[in-house]
Amino acid sequence: MSSIVAIVGRPNVGKSTFFNRLIQRREAIVDSVSGVTRDRHYGKTDWNGRNFSVIDTGGYVVGSEDVFEAEIDKQVELAIEEADAIVFMVDVETGITPMDEDVANLLRRVNKPVFLAVNKVDNSKRLENAVEFYSLGLGEYYPIASTNGSGTGELLDALVEAL
Ligand code: GDP
Ligand code: MG
Repeated sequence: MSSIVAIVGRPNVGKSTFFNRLIQRREAIVDSVSGVTRDRHYGKTDWNGRNFSVIDTGGYVVGSEDVFEAEIDKQVELAIEEADAIVFMVDVETGITPMDEDVANLLRRVNKPVFLAVNKVDNSKRLENAVEFYSLGLGEYYPIASTNGSGTGELLDALVEAL
């Protein structure tokens, strides 16, 4: 059975953009599931000759901030259960938010490889700004731009190495 990689993070950081970039190298989305595990997209991809499945989490309930955060926690907990490795995506444009810290708290206790992807690093100024994400306590991070693919090769090299 191929390994599973889950992409988690708060809305609008660029999870689906990254997912679509991975998946477009193969045939479109394999399966979409709605319900408790709202709007999770599953796809298959490969990198360096290594096949793996990717889960794009998202489609959160729009409502109070509490529901919002609870839903993200649920997605992260599901990802922790079913994935072999986790990509935690954050957004350098907005910087660290309380929701990012909340997710980081969950992931810091996980005994699976976690890759911190700082997305929207479109220019050198943003590359400098990305350093603030060290304070999430997850160690090394990968500066990427999902829209043009910059930095995603380094992230994927490390990711498949851990599978
Ligand atoms: P999701 O909610 O985490 O799935 O985020 P989406 O993939 O839907 O992206 C949210 C917004 O961020 C969209 O407008 C994307 O075009 C934008 N976005 C995604 N990746 C990048 C990036 O690398 N750079 C910039 N500037 N914008 C990005
Ligand atoms: Mg999305």
